[in-house]
Amino acid sequence: MKKMSLPKKIFLSLLLGVAVGLVCAVTDNAAFAASYLKPFGDIFVNLLKFIVVPVVLFSMIDGILSMDNMKKVGKVGWKTLVYFTGTTIVACAVGLLISNLFYTLGLFPDLSGEVGNATYVPSEFQGFMATLVGIFPSNMWQAFTEANMLQVIVIALFFGGAIMAAGEKGRLCRDIAASFYAVIERLMAFIIGLAPIGVFTYMAWVVATQGAAILGHLALVLLCAYISYLIHALIVYSFSAKVFCGIRPTAFFKGTAAAIIFAFTSASSAATLPVSKRCADELGADSDISAFVLPLGSTIHMDGTAIYQCVATVFLASCAGMQLTIGQMLLVVATATLASIGTAGVSGAGMIMLAMTLEAVGIPVSYIGLIVAVDRLFDMGRTCLNVTGDIAGALCVSTWERRKG
Ligand code: ASP
Repeated sequence: MKKMSLPKKIFLSLLLGVAVGLVCAVTDNAAFAASYLKPFGDIFVNLLKFIVVPVVLFSMIDGILSMDNMKKVGKVGWKTLVYFTGTTIVACAVGLLISNLFYTLGLFPDLSGEVGNATYVPSEFQGFMATLVGIFPSNMWQAFTEANMLQVIVIALFFGGAIMAAGEKGRLCRDIAASFYAVIERLMAFIIGLAPIGVFTYMAWVVATQGAAILGHLALVLLCAYISYLIHALIVYSFSAKVFCGIRPTAFFKGTAAAIIFAFTSASSAATLPVSKRCADELGADSDISAFVLPLGSTIHMDGTAIYQCVATVFLASCAGMQLTIGQMLLVVATATLASIGTAGVSGAGMIMLAMTLEAVGIPVSYIGLIVAVDRLFDMGRTCLNVTGDIAGALCVSTWERRKG
């Protein structure tokens, strides 16, 4: 038992969690799972959340400093953004294609008469310019306490750049950052070691409480989302791993398995960050590049979230008795891409951003109420994809940089 690797332990706890969850569901003990198992998962996720700001901050500063010149940071940043945007747009196309297929086959319902009781109060989207301004922190500590990841990334970029620019005089800061990062890595390793407990308890809870909800149309829209997730992963990520990095798809998915399982159960790419980093490095990414690409990716690169936004929009449009036009679909691509960039890497965030996409095409936001109950199930899959995409990105950018250098 002692020798068992962490991914194996995580996988076993996943199976055990499903089994216990099913037992709870059929014996009407979902409340037990929610009251006595889920809290242990919550403790584990709290620990992950507590470490995520320092991880992002120091891993990015460390990544920038280890690149040793701002030019390299710029080049890596540029390539990363091209990869991220490209795959997210493809993700939207895949999501729209598959969901329209489901729609055309009549697998999505028209519930326009019956949705009076679908209630969901969205948080307001403030518009693109306000979002842009909001990326720049006016108070560093507030960014940390609110765990505003885009702001934390901006802080890391500024500090990393400034420490580098300060040269010899900045050496103390450089050493402090490196030392902090080393300590945080140890802490991360400890917390990751607790993963099987979190995975088991969360899985048991999800299966116990939502097992019965996987019914009828919801099962179909979930199926639609998961087919799209799978197609995107198999085509885009396998393709990038093979063509750009020479890694066989089987080796790629085997190497990312721990992060995928972890993402599936935690539904948070930010929380999965330490595991993704380990997977990316073991698959051959350069450590300084993965330290830069992965935290950025866990905040702004969310192909799974983009697919979910597209599938959910087509589904809810159908529920509302609407058929989206080509123009509206293009609008969905644009807003879903922006929404996925703005989505925080924590569980449930993608659903909040869905309000923005629905509003853009004129679907009443209250329709989100129809899928809220199973959001966790969408979320688990989209987070897997988000994380896998980040790892693929780290590998590709590493290869491109190596070829150049
Ligand atoms: N849970 C997702 C993630 O952390 C974000 C989302 O809700 O779409 O990647």
